[in-house]
Amino acid sequence: MQKWEQIQGVYLHTPFCLQKCLYCDFASYAGFSEADMAAYTKAMCCEIEQRGQSLPVAADATVYFGGGTPSLLPEKLLTALVDALHKNGLWRQPTEATIEVNPGTADKQKLHFFKELGFDRISFGVQSLNDNELRAVGRIHTASEALEALAMAQDVGFERISADLIYGLPGQNLATLQQSLKILTGAGLQHLSVYGLTVEEGTPLAHLLDEGKIVLPDEDMQLAMYELVQEYLPSQGLKRYEISNYAMAGQESRHNLVYWHYLPYLSFGSAACSFNGQQRFTAVPNVAEYIKSVGSGVAAGVVERLDAETQLAEYLFMGLRSFEGIDLREAEQRFKCDVMLKFGAELARFIKEKLVALDTDKKRLRLTEQGMRFSNEVFEIFVK
Ligand code: SF4
Repeated sequence: MQKWEQIQGVYLHTPFCLQKCLYCDFASYAGFSEADMAAYTKAMCCEIEQRGQSLPVAADATVYFGGGTPSLLPEKLLTALVDALHKNGLWRQPTEATIEVNPGTADKQKLHFFKELGFDRISFGVQSLNDNELRAVGRIHTASEALEALAMAQDVGFERISADLIYGLPGQNLATLQQSLKILTGAGLQHLSVYGLTVEEGTPLAHLLDEGKIVLPDEDMQLAMYELVQEYLPSQGLKRYEISNYAMAGQESRHNLVYWHYLPYLSFGSAACSFNGQQRFTAVPNVAEYIKSVGSGVAAGVVERLDAETQLAEYLFMGLRSFEGIDLREAEQRFKCDVMLKFGAELARFIKEKLVALDTDKKRLRLTEQGMRFSNEVFEIFVK
């Protein structure tokens, strides 16, 4: 069986957060009770029973608990979820089991518990190590709490720790960004995900900007920040292996590579998205609706059937996000399509401009460092 015919990653979504960050438009909610978390977890365990065995799952499929803030779930509930995965053959010998943790939501004892449960990787939502920047976007933690959380995870014995960072924050400048990067790399982190702040419509951040109550760094400054990140992190040994992700050799997120390699994954929980190679299923984002639907036998959501053209286009632009790019032989085997024959004429301009590199010996197509900055222009070729 080919790897694209089996589930390669399993994702569980926890939609709870202590407080909504001002920029966040994810399916996450504040103001919940212990009872809400228990009811939601029970529904997720049921959903795992209902859908968990519907597709062949690779024995080493990755596991990822994301959110929201999965580290908020009480130990008893996390244990129930992990047990449900074990029972349904979704957690056997994962190549990686990650849990997202927001600083301030897990003490040393809880981090130890995550390790005991079998997680071998933690991804911390650090975002910045400057208290003014954290406050400006409504994060609940301080810089020192974030550093304390990282140190505790290292003490507990986690060898694979990642942090998320954001650039373009209100009040941020090149010096404060560099300071955050320097402290994190100095602390021995081997994986960083670094995103530019995006202003999503309808978020409190968008309103505050409209009202002039908050100011973001201008475009030139944002570009300078982007350049600082992509120069500084490789100088510290963290190679850029995807548009927004940097890692030491061997520390890449194997779970996220499942997405970028366009391999099938199975997800559980409200708003969670599953992909079987031909169709995507996205569960309803509303927690109460999700719980009710699972209780009546099947999680409610939207099914999107992907035709052959769409599958190929998605495979290409997801694959090109990663630095290693596309294996043209695999594309031919998987989609019965000669990519260079189909898109070669349009790709020629980008190859000439050195935004795209074609390795004819290895039969690989990839974005160059410069091409990563203009990735959307390249991707347009595939999504007409
Ligand atoms: S912690 Fe993450 S998911 Fe929760 S509100 Fe903040 S950005 Fe959104």
